[in-house]
Amino acid sequence: MTAGRRAAAAAGRGGGTGPAAEAEARRLDASDPVPSLRAEFHVPPAPGGAYPEAAYFAGNSLGLQPRTVAGLLREELDDWARLGVEGHTRGRRPWVDYHELLREPAARLVGALPHEVVAMNTLTVNLHLMMASFYRPSGERTRIVIEDTAFPSDSYAVASQAVHHGLDPADAVVRLRPRDGEEHLRTEDVVAYLERDGARVALLLLGGVNYLTGQLMDMAAITRAGRAAGAVVGWDLAHAAGNVPLRLHDWDVDFAAWCTYKYLNSGPGAVAGCFVHERHVRDASVPKLSGWWGTERATRFEMAPEIRPPASADAWQVSNPPVLALAPVLASLEIFDRAGMDALRARSGRLTGYLADRLAPIPGISVITPSDPAARGSQLSVRVPGTGGLDAGALVERLAAEAGVIADAREPDVVRLAPVPLYCTFHDCHRAAEALAAITGSA
Ligand SMILES: *Cc1c(COP(=O)(O)O)cnc(C)c1O
Repeated sequence: MTAGRRAAAAAGRGGGTGPAAEAEARRLDASDPVPSLRAEFHVPPAPGGAYPEAAYFAGNSLGLQPRTVAGLLREELDDWARLGVEGHTRGRRPWVDYHELLREPAARLVGALPHEVVAMNTLTVNLHLMMASFYRPSGERTRIVIEDTAFPSDSYAVASQAVHHGLDPADAVVRLRPRDGEEHLRTEDVVAYLERDGARVALLLLGGVNYLTGQLMDMAAITRAGRAAGAVVGWDLAHAAGNVPLRLHDWDVDFAAWCTYKYLNSGPGAVAGCFVHERHVRDASVPKLSGWWGTERATRFEMAPEIRPPASADAWQVSNPPVLALAPVLASLEIFDRAGMDALRARSGRLTGYLADRLAPIPGISVITPSDPAARGSQLSVRVPGTGGLDAGALVERLAAEAGVIADAREPDVVRLAPVPLYCTFHDCHRAAEALAAITGSA
């Protein structure tokens, strides 16, 4: 029996709502084998609600602040105040090598070798840097393939890359759509497309977890098919990093990039991550857009006119890293190292399954995220009526104002709820289900 059905049974009626369901949610919280680390985060207050803290389901948009961030940031501010320029070499974490501190935990998080990852820039910038190296249209092979529901920034980035190469985006950019009447791309359809048209594909660039539907793609199978077709395969992991376990090296992914302010809780506009497969970091002939942080550490300060790129993802760094912006990423990665991605994934499965079971009986709404737990991460996207005062934006406002439930609206009719395993609880899921039922039932 799933947790939700247990709760329903405990409540003794079909919906499984009210005080008995609440007690069951509390029991699930007390007995989960992977306890919540909520106490390590600043959880916003829930003004006016029945509970002091928000039930925060927007961690797929902006993750909560770890309590350790302020201390780490303060140490860098102190070193700057105390040491000035000498902080580069004499700080407690010397700034000149600061990005090195993130390498190993980031590599563990995405299943990479340490020299395949680097923390730098922001996500879309990293996608551009990766495309400068790996989108090399030639002859018939000019296409960039994305999903039709790609995040807009990705759409803009690939279209501008096509233009940059003198191509018409209307021809060069292919948007893969689900079958008529379906919400999700089928792996077999992506593979079939690559088998049929792969000779024309220069770059396959999909989201590992779709931002809108929450669909988790079969990255291993799709990467295999893309590479077999002779295409470069890159992944946008904005909604996958810190959400689902990744094996980028073993999957033979060419490159990947991710932001760190969603599931990785590193703060608004935080420094992003980038992965380049070992076979490319060893290949000095790969063209890059370079800057001084992309030359070897040992000779960087000889200030020579010619670059000597290291055989690592660091070769794609351009500028010296923003240390004050890296400190929160370091704080966050320490938490992921401690919690372990596999344990978080297991807890995420239980929380998301419970929430899905609690949402299923609510009339008038439907979950458009795959029901197969292997085909989703923490996010459930809920299609709401979209009319009569129940468009997604109005509903999200009422959830916050009336119940302290923080969700995210994609107009006109999708509400996204992410029960993030680090700090969300079964009780939060209970609150979200009760509030959604009450608001949609009263309209
Ligand atoms: C959040 C998100 C972005 C945001 O890009 P930034 O460069 O970090 O502003 C881009 N792509 C996807 C798929 C996202 O989910």
